[in-house]
Amino acid sequence: MSTACPICRAEVTARRPENPAFPFCSARCRGIDLSRWLGGDYAIPVRDEAPTDEDLAVAARRSRS
Ligand SMILES: [Zn+2]
Repeated sequence: MSTACPICRAEVTARRPENPAFPFCSARCRGIDLSRWLGGDYAIPVRDEAPTDEDLAVAARRSRS
């Protein structure tokens, strides 16, 4: 079962340890995702205030896993 890169939608077939950037296709896409989170480009629905601890935990998991 393969995964699509959340950034460029490329098919991601390699997982850790072969692909340390998983679920992204590359470190470049992982970096783009992280910068979007940090820059607030991701729209978090139904909320205008600062992200909650849970949001940050999700972002951290996304960036690490
Ligand atoms: Zn990608």
